Amino acid sequence: MGKNSNTIESLFGQNVFNQHVMKTMLPKETYRAFKRVLEQGQPLTAAQADDIAAAMKDWAVEKGATHFTHWFQPMTGFTAEKHDSFIKPTDDGRAMAEFSGKELIKGEPDASSFPSGGLRATFEARGYTAWDISSPAFLKEDEGGLTLCIPTAFCSYTGEALDKKTPLLRSMDALSREAVRVLRLIGNTQVQKVTTTVGAEQEYFLIDREYYEQRPDLIFAGRTLFGAMPPKGQEMEDHYFGSIKDRIAGYMRDLDRELWKLGVSAKTKHNEVAPAQHELAPIFQTTNIAADHNQLTMEMMRKVAIRHDLVCLLHEKPFAGVNGSGKHNNWSMSTDDGQNLLDPGHTPHENVQFLLFLSAVIKAVDEYGDLLRVSAANPGNDHRLGANEAPPAIISVYLGDQLGHILDQIDAGDAKESKRGGILDSGTPMLSTLPKDSSDRNRTSPFAFTGNKFEFRMVPASISISAPNFTLNTIVAEALSGIGDRLEKATDRRAEVKTIIQEIVRKHKRVVFNGNNYAKEWVAEAAKRGLPNISSTVEAFKSIVAEKNVALYEKHKVFTRTELEARYEISLENYSKTIRIEALTMVDMARRMIQPSVIRYATFLAESVQTVKAAGADVSVQEGLLKSVSSLGVQFNEKLGALEKAIEKADATHGSSQAHAEAYRDVVFTAMGALREVGDKLETIVDESFWPMPTYGDLLFRV
Ligand code: ADP
Ligand code: MG
Repeated sequence: MGKNSNTIESLFGQNVFNQHVMKTMLPKETYRAFKRVLEQGQPLTAAQADDIAAAMKDWAVEKGATHFTHWFQPMTGFTAEKHDSFIKPTDDGRAMAEFSGKELIKGEPDASSFPSGGLRATFEARGYTAWDISSPAFLKEDEGGLTLCIPTAFCSYTGEALDKKTPLLRSMDALSREAVRVLRLIGNTQVQKVTTTVGAEQEYFLIDREYYEQRPDLIFAGRTLFGAMPPKGQEMEDHYFGSIKDRIAGYMRDLDRELWKLGVSAKTKHNEVAPAQHELAPIFQTTNIAADHNQLTMEMMRKVAIRHDLVCLLHEKPFAGVNGSGKHNNWSMSTDDGQNLLDPGHTPHENVQFLLFLSAVIKAVDEYGDLLRVSAANPGNDHRLGANEAPPAIISVYLGDQLGHILDQIDAGDAKESKRGGILDSGTPMLSTLPKDSSDRNRTSPFAFTGNKFEFRMVPASISISAPNFTLNTIVAEALSGIGDRLEKATDRRAEVKTIIQEIVRKHKRVVFNGNNYAKEWVAEAAKRGLPNISSTVEAFKSIVAEKNVALYEKHKVFTRTELEARYEISLENYSKTIRIEALTMVDMARRMIQPSVIRYATFLAESVQTVKAAGADVSVQEGLLKSVSSLGVQFNEKLGALEKAIEKADATHGSSQAHAEAYRDVVFTAMGALREVGDKLETIVDESFWPMPTYGDLLFRV
């Protein structure tokens, strides 16, 4: 009889307190009230919250949980949790498990140890976590046992957002409000709510744990700070979609199962372009849940790796010279009656609703490209954006042939036809005929239309997808708000819709680019079009507090000015700290690992010169090598001294956090590059057995 416990059906959602479980465990009226919260935003009563808490606890305890935690995403770092046990002592010296509605709804971690970017100084140290009712609670399994995790938002005593989730939820409300308003104005009276949906494809590296342990740079900085290229990199392109090694396949299988248990619908897995690089894609979800799931995915990727004696690297650029990792953030909008607002249908040129929402996105991206750029800015991504692997730092939109053709027609007057995809002819009757998509893919665009969604491809691998999505939601809400205002005033709305679409196409077509984003010519062309090219993270941060952006976020109630100022501060501080840690790690490795090895090797060569010479043989090889090693050793020492000075100088920079971060970028980061260059040259001539750490060859190919 025993049901196979390995099927997707029995694994999926096993550790999730989902609606199915709630329906069976809750009193009918409470379950209905819960659904009303989700659909209409009506609050729960205290009694209903108690019901839910009790059911949640019974379910969790049954499965073996002893603790619960309010799980949240502070402004820096990963996820935070503080564990409380369900314990409640009884009068007669025993204890029982208890969990109240109050404990479910509100938590009070001490806010003072989390970064607040000055919010704490202005306000109170107190911070609260509040249950995000729309994201289901789940059980986390680890050596510590099972813990009931309640997804929450984290805010200060006076309501300022101290986390990444609060603005995301606020932006979802803003988008829904404006989208519903526009839909009503064009005659759609059914829709009550519009949600944004996200599927985040996650790239990562897996390396052997034993090698990892020997690299302080990987341990402290998450990326290699030294490392010469091995004879083989990614030039053969034989890793992309290549067959998966057994050891990695075992990891992926384990990861899938852990994620399924948590209700994360891991769907696709494959090898990526760089050696040792892989990707996982889930099926898309409502945005806040997708964001929670992406956090869980990253956490599980790391955890499961350890079990397989592997280490998962989520840094954007763990290795110089091969591709780094990003996330592709697939984004769309859908209505509560099941329409994807970015689905063009068969004849997009006639689909006015689609064209209107599409133009809203185009307008948003053109007017707030700087915000999208900063939403993808972190120190790690500075190694990718603009290099020949990730999209450039210039934001543009790829629409493809079919939509491009329609926009051209609209620009010229009226859209009369849609190009068809047709049938793919493989030239042999043995292969079934395949219907062709109406547009080819463009892998180089930072923001590409891919059939019925946009794919934002600049997102760094390691960050929460909250910022990219609260940005998208808010800027599109703003474009829709402008459209709504105009439609409200129009006497002939049908005609006005057409006029609006045409005006947007004409005004914002500069942001549409269907060509190769990696080409040098594009940089010049984009400059001619007036598109910003913000090349560094520190530069990008300024957009957070630009007046037009503060006005935008305040208007849509996603952030207050104070909250934005706090985020700006935190971003800058985080940048400086990151570069400082990297620089100190480099100094440490240089002084205590590389230099001693180089000295040992030089001594070995010198001794060889003497001994071999005494024996009367030719020592020109040893002598040549010794000269090279010594002279590189001298250069290395100079660059090392320069880096130490650079750190001192940046540390001593007075003034704003912006100035501080700029010093780290311009002085320290540059000095790091110079030291590395010499270090990597040394690596290529020093005897392997003298080199103090595993090489790129070991890290990338011996997995
Ligand atoms: P591609 O082949 O273009 O990468 P896939 O269909 O495999 O596209 O999807 C990539 C990601 O996009 C997946 O995570 C998928 O679930 C997600 N996705 C598909 N449709 C939507 C949508 N309407 N909204 C958000 N994400 C979506
Ligand atoms: Mg993709």
